[in-house]
Amino acid sequence: MAGEPQADCLFCKIVSGDVPATVVRETETTLAFRDINPQAPTHVLVIPRVHYPDAGTLATVEPAIAADVLREAAAVAVADGTDGSGYRIVFNTGAGAGQTVFHAHAHVLGGRGFNWPPG
Ligand code: 5GP
Repeated sequence: MAGEPQADCLFCKIVSGDVPATVVRETETTLAFRDINPQAPTHVLVIPRVHYPDAGTLATVEPAIAADVLREAAAVAVADGTDGSGYRIVFNTGAGAGQTVFHAHAHVLGGRGFNWPPG
């Protein structure tokens, strides 16, 4: 059924507690935890507790939860103090764009400067 946990999904295992993570914020619908391989001083992943393969699918099927993810991403930036200098929210979507974990997630990156266009 749409949104159900997937046995082979790493982020579903973090939601269930079967895989440990450094959680920084949680709500009824979302979980925010530090990326295991940080690309910036602040690098937090914000995920929906429900399983959808990418952010576009989440936004189509569960728009209210997609909004929760975005709001929590901004809250992470404020909590880590990166909102003043600017931060980046990234949704890699599809393997060609660098997505490696197929459970919707926002990267929140901050604490350093960023280039545009991205690599
Ligand atoms: P993607 O490449 O799909 O956009 O992002 C997946 C992210 O998950 C990567 O930045 C990667 O470092 C992170 N990641 C992979 N495995 C783990 C893990 O076991 N724990 C945590 N906290 N992050 C992970």
